[in-house]
Amino acid sequence: MNAPAAAPAAPANTAAAAAGAQARAAAWHRGWRARWRPAWRQAGPLRRALPWVLLLALLAVAQTLLVALTLRYETWRAHAAAEAAAAEAASAVRRDLLRFTQALQVVTRLSPAEPDWRAAVDTVLREGAPLRRIEWRDAAVAIVTGVDAPLAPPLFARIARAELSAEPEQACREAQRLSAPTFSGSYFVPSFDGTGEEVIDLCLPVWRDGRQAAYLVATLALQGLLDAAVERSRELRRYEMSFVESDGARLARAGVQRGAGVTVEEQVLDLPGHSLRLRADSVAGPPGLIPTLTLALVLGLSIALFGVVLLLARDVRRRAAAEQALAESLRFRQAMEDSLSTGLRARNLAGAITYVNPAFCAMVGVGAEALYAVRPPAAPPYWPPERAAEYTERQRRRLAGGAAQREGFEMVYMRSNGERFPVMVYEAPLLDAEGRHTGWMGSVLDLTAQRRIEDLSRQQQERLQATARLATVGEMASLLSHELNQPLAAIASYSTGSLNLLGATGAAAAAAAGAAAAAGAAAVGPAAPRAEGEETTALLRQALARIAEQAERAGRVIKSVHDFVRRREQQRETIGVDLLLEAVLPLVRLQARKAGVRVELDLPQPPAAVPRVVCDRTMVEQVLLNLARNGIQAMEGAPGGTPAAERMLLLAARALPDGWVRIDVGDRGPGIAPEVAARLFTPFFTTRAEGMGLGLSLCRTVVEQHGGTLAFEPGPGGRGTRFHFTLPAPRPAAAAQ
Ligand code: ADP
Repeated sequence: MNAPAAAPAAPANTAAAAAGAQARAAAWHRGWRARWRPAWRQAGPLRRALPWVLLLALLAVAQTLLVALTLRYETWRAHAAAEAAAAEAASAVRRDLLRFTQALQVVTRLSPAEPDWRAAVDTVLREGAPLRRIEWRDAAVAIVTGVDAPLAPPLFARIARAELSAEPEQACREAQRLSAPTFSGSYFVPSFDGTGEEVIDLCLPVWRDGRQAAYLVATLALQGLLDAAVERSRELRRYEMSFVESDGARLARAGVQRGAGVTVEEQVLDLPGHSLRLRADSVAGPPGLIPTLTLALVLGLSIALFGVVLLLARDVRRRAAAEQALAESLRFRQAMEDSLSTGLRARNLAGAITYVNPAFCAMVGVGAEALYAVRPPAAPPYWPPERAAEYTERQRRRLAGGAAQREGFEMVYMRSNGERFPVMVYEAPLLDAEGRHTGWMGSVLDLTAQRRIEDLSRQQQERLQATARLATVGEMASLLSHELNQPLAAIASYSTGSLNLLGATGAAAAAAAGAAAAAGAAAVGPAAPRAEGEETTALLRQALARIAEQAERAGRVIKSVHDFVRRREQQRETIGVDLLLEAVLPLVRLQARKAGVRVELDLPQPPAAVPRVVCDRTMVEQVLLNLARNGIQAMEGAPGGTPAAERMLLLAARALPDGWVRIDVGDRGPGIAPEVAARLFTPFFTTRAEGMGLGLSLCRTVVEQHGGTLAFEPGPGGRGTRFHFTLPAPRPAAAAQ
């Protein structure tokens, strides 16, 4: 099993926490996969088929046994029925024989000589169909008289009775010995039609005066005995009932024509003097598989059972296929979630987190288990404490609102190292299989990179604006420099000319004074005005020299601006900030004095510690002059102005640790209103009647050309404004030079 794909790298200081979170997330996913991994994936096809083969084999064995047992039971039932039939027939025969014996005993009380004898014998013969003949024999068993059954042909028509007397004689001897009625063995009496009858004799001893006087012999047809028994019971008619000999030969038969010879039962009929075997042979053959109802039921159930097993197997196969599809879709989903850089988070209706993906854990630097353990109303660890109340309220409203549509909102999350970062959260209702709303599924986008790109593009935009400003200012500057160069050159040459003239005039006056003194005339009178004239001339000369100096400076500025906007190679030099300030201070002080403003310098001590910068000196001096002039004007121009005692302009410089130098120009004016601040650096924006609105725009362009930034903030205690800009400090090698 593969571990889930590595989540995006966490920030360095949260690496350990993120690694822990990843490990926990991986363990969770492993458990999840093991739970869902279907059994068929682990077993081979043979092992998978084995339980089914065993089940089918068991079923086959059970069914066979069931069928065999049912067959056996059916056979046993058939035998029991046959046995009962044989017993019933035997008992019926026994009852008949007893009845005949009793009737014959009545006859023994008479003798053939008596007139009633014949009538009694006839009555007995009529009532008992199996009785075929009754004989009276003397004490020596010789026949005295015999009466044949009136309704049947005479028995001994073909063979004389005398020839077949062995059995009755033996029976009578036995009867005499036992002094009780005795049966003879059976014997066959043939008839004229080629058939014959199997008969037995019953010999009853006749006593007269306590002595054996004669014998009464009754001949019974076995066929008749059987017929009488079978006639009385319908049950017996389903069998072939027969008297058989010990070797199996049939002596007489009744019931159905022929038994099947399968279900055969015998009963021994023990008669005094002889015993008969009575056999019942069922007409039914061996129990067939189908005709029996029980068997049909068992077989039907077995087939149904097999059908159910087959259906079950098909169902199991479909389930396995469905499980495989499910497992594959789960793996697909897992891979998709692991590859996502978007955080996924699910919450239930109580607001508790029920699922997070690895990207979410990596984003906030907290493991999944820790997130699952958070129970609302406790805030999750990625909510910044200062916003927890606001978010709790928002969550409460959202959860109370029911299943609204997909919704997106921006939030600030906190990583485990405390770093705040903006995120975009899109949430949609989470529905279960029945469509019930069970919670919310949210995707969380980390906006940090997007914000960085936005910042970059804003800076780009500002640079573009700066370039545009430069172009505008450049056009103006080119025009101005062209237009102003001529008058400035004229001013410079006129002032030089004036100075020259003043020089010549002064020399002439001195010469005239010298001549007058030499003449000694009215020396005191004109002396005072001459001294005054000389003083004025000296002042004029000084003023003219300044005019020439400033005109030259103005020319330099214009040239510098011109060069600057034309993007000519700038004159970058390494210079101490104190020197830059020194160059502008005389002019600044002049303006400050006029406005009653105190100028304060704040530079690191000793002088050697004053930071140095690499810059176009003239342009930076212009920036300083502009900012200082704006500050002074703010203090004197405010309604009512800043009280004189508080008017102070601060010029400060500090080296920043990252290779930059920050220069501050602070005032105690009225500050900058927000609506003014928004347009401050826009070219030609001014609040002053005589202003041009180009100063700050130009200043920012100059600073940005050096790679620095120009910004402002309220002064200490919210009083006044503090403009500050940065310039690059020389690199260590350059500083050494
Ligand atoms: P100008 O000085 O010609 O008006 P600037 O670009 O130098 O043009 O300044 C633009 C506007 O910025 C000024 O009109 C003023 O309203 C405002 N401003 C500049 N500096 C300050 C300051 N130190 N205090 C207050 N407002 C200032």
